Amino acid sequence: MPHHPYEALYIHIPFCASKCHYCDFDSLPYRADDPYLTEYFEGLITQIRQLSKEGELTHIRTIYVGGGTPTHAGSKHLTSLLYALGVSMDLADVEELTIEANPESLTEPLVRDLWALGANRLSLGVQTFDDGLLTSIGRPHDGAQAVRALEAAQTRFTNVSMDLMCGLPGQTADGFEADVRQGVDAGVSHLSVYPLSLERGTRLYKQRRRFSFPDEDAQADMMESAERILEGAGLSRYEVASYARPGAESKHNSAYWQGVPYLGVGRSAVTMTQNDQRRMRVRDGAVEDDLDTAQMAAEDAMLAMRMTCGLSKERAARMEALLPDLPSVLQELAAEGLVQETDGAWRPTHRGWLFGNRLFGALLDLAS
Ligand code: SF4
Repeated sequence: MPHHPYEALYIHIPFCASKCHYCDFDSLPYRADDPYLTEYFEGLITQIRQLSKEGELTHIRTIYVGGGTPTHAGSKHLTSLLYALGVSMDLADVEELTIEANPESLTEPLVRDLWALGANRLSLGVQTFDDGLLTSIGRPHDGAQAVRALEAAQTRFTNVSMDLMCGLPGQTADGFEADVRQGVDAGVSHLSVYPLSLERGTRLYKQRRRFSFPDEDAQADMMESAERILEGAGLSRYEVASYARPGAESKHNSAYWQGVPYLGVGRSAVTMTQNDQRRMRVRDGAVEDDLDTAQMAAEDAMLAMRMTCGLSKERAARMEALLPDLPSVLQELAAEGLVQETDGAWRPTHRGWLFGNRLFGALLDLAS
């Protein structure tokens, strides 16, 4: 269908050193020298060259190479990929090019190669610095490797993000706070905090009775303590799970939350194509979502509530033609303390994020 230009590009690298016990993503353990990796990267590069010829890359402003563990594939494959991107589009116009990394495979020489070929942001999956917890969730690295990787990243990159998890089996409030403080001390510019989600079929799910998990209240307390420590250290919460120093907010992730059309390249990567009438999401050739204008507006209203900036009143007014119940639902959510009207926008409250299912569900239901 004729569509608005894609502005974000996601490239999926579905390989890891081993399978973490909580992981249900499309990623499999492979040796970095497995011939399948060469074949896979050649496929990515062919697709990128083709997309370039078709003119689909001319408006791309952010690129995210994620996984899996892109750094597990090593310098040879990643530098070919970045080189192919460099000849397929004008990287000078790309504001953010992130590579996802894991501590066990991010070395200083690799950091230098990625930087030299145009990457300007690294996102490290640390999860916790506690070796006992790392073992119990099956991470292939220890806390000391995470510290070294964060130091290596900062030999070139000023924009370094790290992920932490809360709600891990056996994790205490004090232990989690120590992780957050260590993240701040490591000097990162961006930090994401995710609660553990126990997914059916994962090894951790099967072994769940062997462990004691912090309950929902304890998890919520951990999210609150992260906010207190990070805000105190100058990292502002700009999205439900994301904190950044001023200017270091993730442009690529923000594109997802702002309904910007994106291209996904590689196995399991999702492409979102849209025009004024329709929004489609396609994964591996299968249509996953096909939204009309009202459903698009409801989704945009819901996504806006993930972010601190919320939904501007002008945008909400424009959405009313498609979603006549929007004003009354916003008033209802405000009465429940889940949103508030401040500085010309409807914004989520702390309570709104705690009861995200109610807040996000009420907005999505506007189009059903
Ligand atoms: S590193 Fe990430 S993608 Fe790979 S197995 Fe662990 S959680 Fe899954």
